[in-house]
Amino acid sequence: MDTTSIPLSLLNDYLFCKRRAGLKLIENERGSNVHTAEGDVVHDRVDTPGYHVLRGVTVLRSLPVWSDALGLSGVCDVVERHPDGSLVPVEFKKSRRKSFVNDDVQVCAQGLCIEQCMGVRVARGAIFFSGSKLRRDVELDEGLRALTWKTVESLHRLCDRDAELPPAEPKRACEGCSLVELCMPAASRFRRGAAAWFERHLNDMEKLTSNNDEASS
Ligand code: SF4
Repeated sequence: MDTTSIPLSLLNDYLFCKRRAGLKLIENERGSNVHTAEGDVVHDRVDTPGYHVLRGVTVLRSLPVWSDALGLSGVCDVVERHPDGSLVPVEFKKSRRKSFVNDDVQVCAQGLCIEQCMGVRVARGAIFFSGSKLRRDVELDEGLRALTWKTVESLHRLCDRDAELPPAEPKRACEGCSLVELCMPAASRFRRGAAAWFERHLNDMEKLTSNNDEASS
């Protein structure tokens, strides 16, 4: 694995759409739309570094974490320290309660970074959905840890100097993607189709030319 430090949030992007992660990583683009603006408002509530204590739980806000082994760094929205000493990263999302593996992987990566920064085992994290004020616990089991490592390795491969931007994956969710104008998923699909067509016909022409050369010799 190379030593580049990748932003934690890119794991979420990568599992949602490889091209989106590539545009952010290779092209350094973030884009903005109504969804990113709403997300910024949600994060404003936890983006002020500090802590408070609520019913015996110390709530650390905006805590920087990193892992040299994973080549990851970022900021946890919240890390709770419970009376038994356990640490629980909590990621804030603007949506209502939903269960997406990309969110779970993002929380797991935060947990792995905390483990390496602080030398403690993190057994679980959580996602807080501001749209519904509900919270979902995320167990950091072996399966989720393995998927998180695999995603990190894929992201590091995208950082290679000669890595190509992944192709577009047109889908309904593209409508809400902040990078849709830059990505142009429909045009990308057309370009790939055209390239395949030209390659196929170029091969046919080469075969024809070589057959003609053999016939005339
Ligand atoms: S517009 Fe669609 S294909 Fe393009 S980066 Fe966004 S989600 Fe991916």
